[in-house]
Amino acid sequence: TSFADLQLSRPLLKAITGLGYTTPTPIQAAVVPLALAGRDVCGSAITGSGKTAAFTLPCLERLLHRPRQIAATYVLVLTPTRELAVQVHSMITTLAQHTDISAALVVGGLSSQVQASVLRRSPEIVVATPGRLIDHLHNTQSVGLEDLAVLVLDEADRLLEMGFKEEVTEILRMAPKKRQTMLFSATFNDEVRALMALSLRQPVRLAA
Ligand code: AMP
Repeated sequence: TSFADLQLSRPLLKAITGLGYTTPTPIQAAVVPLALAGRDVCGSAITGSGKTAAFTLPCLERLLHRPRQIAATYVLVLTPTRELAVQVHSMITTLAQHTDISAALVVGGLSSQVQASVLRRSPEIVVATPGRLIDHLHNTQSVGLEDLAVLVLDEADRLLEMGFKEEVTEILRMAPKKRQTMLFSATFNDEVRALMALSLRQPVRLAA
């Protein structure tokens, strides 16, 4: 498979070329077509597999075809740590650089007021750690999940290890039932399986 085979629009292919990527990694070759077809995906993916671009590219492709009359947040990526959120946000911004799609970073340690004002502009993508997102959902009410089309749970095992089970469950409850969900995890214990059962609908399971 080449990137050109993956049915991605030119602004995305241009960003991929700019990054110097020549060939999709196995997880990218597998996830992109499934996600573009609207399937839920469960990936056993470690850092270094290229999973970030694997879930970002189909999200961006879908967003390129969104209705533009109303601004809304369509994609939410939850990560266990601030550091991972920063990395994912940076990758999304790079891959989206030739598009009109914007991504906001919502993590602890940054000014909540500044984040709230960014969120009120309805960025198409929000990359967040669960605690800070819940804070905005409940307290600043600067973001809503009613238009969410895609939810990504990145490093699901670590989300649970970090003690975010309640927050993630709450976010799942607030997200629309009719959505696409992609879950990535390096390991699969009973807790991760329970989260999979709660969040995914007829997922395609991938190893990478
Ligand atoms: P990740 O697993 O998403 O953390 O990505 C690991 C590293 O692989 C990052 O530095 C990416 O920039 C790089 N990468 C992702 N996809 C590709 C690709 N198709 N070709 C070359 N490098 C890639």
